Amino acid sequence: MTTTKAGRIQIGGHVSSSGGIFNAVTRAQEIGAEALQIFVSSPQMWRATAHTAEATAKFREMHAAASLGEVWVHNIYLANLATETPEQLERSIGSVVNALTVGAAVGAQGVVLHTGSHHGQGLAPFLDQVRDALKAILDTTGDGITLALETMAGQGGSIGKEFEELGALLRAVDSPRLQVCLDTCHTFAAGYELRTPEGVEATMRAFDDAIGVEHLAVVHANDSKTPLGGLRDRHENIGDGHIGSDGFRAILGHPAFAGKAFLLEVPGLPTEAKPKGDGPDVENVNRLKAIRDEVAP
Ligand SMILES: [Zn+2]
Ligand SMILES: [Zn+2]
Repeated sequence: MTTTKAGRIQIGGHVSSSGGIFNAVTRAQEIGAEALQIFVSSPQMWRATAHTAEATAKFREMHAAASLGEVWVHNIYLANLATETPEQLERSIGSVVNALTVGAAVGAQGVVLHTGSHHGQGLAPFLDQVRDALKAILDTTGDGITLALETMAGQGGSIGKEFEELGALLRAVDSPRLQVCLDTCHTFAAGYELRTPEGVEATMRAFDDAIGVEHLAVVHANDSKTPLGGLRDRHENIGDGHIGSDGFRAILGHPAFAGKAFLLEVPGLPTEAKPKGDGPDVENVNRLKAIRDEVAP
């Protein structure tokens, strides 16, 4: 049994939910995670996976017995609320509604969403469409669950490269359920400094000005294979990328991140069976826990 200290940063990771959604709980425990993120549907497919009431109830029971912290659902990657095709917009909205519905059934805090792509035209021409889509999603789903828009690296015209884009959407929708997920790799690749305490302070001041730090709901903790401002979304193991261990020390030590769940989406260390790594693993969890215990015990 592990106990989670109130207000303490939770170190977690994205784990597979294959073979029954409740299996994710065991997989989170196996890597020593204190929080977890899952897909509730295959991320590259529109068709939603069916989950029985028994399976979601079993998830909740196992989660409670494991003394695990926050649960987050990552939406499928195909969704794009700024799509120019009405059919794709319907499907995108449907995918987020499904993620929020299954998320609520397993007791998740929320769903993390890549808002979409403005195809290099900027957010402005799509602001009304995305606002209306987000309102429709929140209106058709239950009260108790958050939708967190993720900060993006800017690859492919992704909305969320600039904090101002997410701030504009939060103000336009004006719902306490609409929040933000800060991905350390994406934010750094988008050009926000995260390697030093001064850099993290400047970045979080920019976040506060554009969005408001009170709207930071959760963190994706990934080092970056791409240098500062490289605009490419390539995750690296903690300490092995351009953000580095000192960067994560500065991030976890900053007051804006107190009490947040830090969810790893890293490649993982190579193993004999998986030379390219098998995703978030004990080693990355331990690296981040060691930093947390040092700077924010
Ligand atoms: Zn992420
Ligand atoms: Zn990414």
